[in-house]
Amino acid sequence: MSFADLGLSDELLSAVTGAGYTEPTPVQKQAIPSVLMGKDLIAIAQTGTGKTAAFVLPMIDILGEGRTRALMPRSLILEPTRELAAQVAENFEKYGVNHKLSMALLIGGVQMGDQVKALQSGVDVLIATPGRLMDLFQRGKILLTGCDLLVIDEADRMLDMGFIPDIEEICTKLPKQRQTLLFSATMPPVIKKLADKFLTNPKQIEVARPASTNVNITQWVVPVSGQKKRATLERLLEADDLNTAIIFANRKTTVRDLNKALQRSGFRSGEIHGDMEQPQRLAELDRFKKGDINILVASDVAARGLDIKGVSHVFNYDAPWHPDDYVHRIGRTGRAGAKGAAFTLVTPDDAENIDNIEKLTGHKIDRYDMGGAPAEAEAPREEKPKREDRKPAGRKKAEEKREKAPVREREAAPKREPAPRREEAKARPPRRDERDEGPDEGWNGPVPDFLNFTLSE
Ligand code: AMP
Repeated sequence: MSFADLGLSDELLSAVTGAGYTEPTPVQKQAIPSVLMGKDLIAIAQTGTGKTAAFVLPMIDILGEGRTRALMPRSLILEPTRELAAQVAENFEKYGVNHKLSMALLIGGVQMGDQVKALQSGVDVLIATPGRLMDLFQRGKILLTGCDLLVIDEADRMLDMGFIPDIEEICTKLPKQRQTLLFSATMPPVIKKLADKFLTNPKQIEVARPASTNVNITQWVVPVSGQKKRATLERLLEADDLNTAIIFANRKTTVRDLNKALQRSGFRSGEIHGDMEQPQRLAELDRFKKGDINILVASDVAARGLDIKGVSHVFNYDAPWHPDDYVHRIGRTGRAGAKGAAFTLVTPDDAENIDNIEKLTGHKIDRYDMGGAPAEAEAPREEKPKREDRKPAGRKKAEEKREKAPVREREAAPKREPAPRREEAKARPPRRDERDEGPDEGWNGPVPDFLNFTLSE
């Protein structure tokens, strides 16, 4: 089955060809024709399956007909995080090049004034995180009565983040006669109940076993003691085939400390977590995408949905507390048919977490041998290759860059960083504020240009 068989317009088919896609993915084959027919849909599909295009493509054709009205968006897409919302907006931009649709993003952390202005002129598509949408709604800045197409994306993630009451309330503000599409990687009972309540006779599709992991990703666990974690990680980062890597840690403080430590060791690393302001988060992602840095230390805020090409390695500096998070974290590599590698550092305290991951995925993860010595131990000094040879590409490049930098820049660089804080010694269940998954709303920076625009203008 080709894209042309799905019932999409010629303008859209040309945009899809422009995006380089030759064949629809299974979720697209199953979803697009029924969405075009106006049916409700429940799709059990993980990120990486092409699910975003499965709703964005038919929406563009549906919204191609009709006109916008001030303050009354014609369709609404709910996303759990700002990053996912921004990514969906980018998809609209990419696939909507031949359409004149207007779009607005309502996400926490962007000045409300600019978002309200965008709404006042009327939009075809509103992409929002639930918290910010409710906030604007309660201030009377938005009417949802003209919104007859609703997408609830990453519903299980919404559940994890405590957004379900907001979503229920939002559903009651929309017209009863509407089309609703619900996407979720898994279907826990609460989501099933939500679907029963707010969807009408939906078509149900499932494209991958929930919580399955990608066969293109080679997975390893690396047994290590708490004290040796960083040294072990640095050795793994020196792998020849490492191109770009995301390193996940369970706590925001660990993300910050680890990034500082890696930078001190000469790695070209950056960080992303929920305590950062939105422009900083986007700028850091941008540096990673552009290759200014090749290592991104991240909290789980970056675990789901983020689609960055060419991530060769994922490292779990901490074994995730929830097995679902493991599947989402390692899914940042091995994308679009590429090969990837995922390493999870495992201290004796993490045994139960690994058991749970293996139960969920139905797959025993191989133990990685760090080179003859007990896996957690450093190689004996004399056996180490010469220092120059051990430098990872990223580290060498960083040094070259430093050497080439003008003297003033070099002098301005801090000579010594404070010593890193000791890592939390023992894994324990996270407090809500330590984990990085709460609804993250609320800074007042300028709106990045790409977040507010009209398609094809
Ligand atoms: P998603 O599951 O929406 O996060 O999409 C995962 C990746 O698949 C994104 O990089 C999309 O650009 C890409 N993609 C979506 N549809 C197709 C397709 N039909 N052929 C090839 N790549 C696709």
